[in-house]
Amino acid sequence: MPIDATLPYDDQNIFAKILRGEIPNNTVYEDEWALAFRDINPQAPVHVLVIPRGAYVSWDDFSANGSDSEIAGFVRAVGKVARDLDLVESGYRLLANIGIDSHQEVPHLHVHLFGGKPLGPMLAR
Ligand code: AMP
Repeated sequence: MPIDATLPYDDQNIFAKILRGEIPNNTVYEDEWALAFRDINPQAPVHVLVIPRGAYVSWDDFSANGSDSEIAGFVRAVGKVARDLDLVESGYRLLANIGIDSHQEVPHLHVHLFGGKPLGPMLAR
């Protein structure tokens, strides 16, 4: 079910549980600001989710309410994950779903990082 990204943060969401170590994940990178792990249902040879450590529902919430340090740390982490996975030369795609029309399902900001093959058109027609 898509979530309403204007609702308050729910600390029982699955990515909050991953951040607290309550459920396992396949980590590819972590630092003070971000955690990156493999998507459980990959849509490309490389499909990684990068999430901020802070409690933000969506890109909208984060861009409005995140501190400069959190935003800088998160954006740098996303770029570092792609470099660490050797995706810069071949190219990759970033995607963030925000709210109902985008079909966001998990109410903790996550950026999808796709790569490892030609990714085709940006949106299904
Ligand atoms: P979105 O539709 O943008 O909210 O995407 C949520 C993503 O989270 C989907 O691609 C799911 O496959 C992924 N996902 C859900 N639960 C987990 C989990 N426990 N570990 C890794 N990825 C997950």
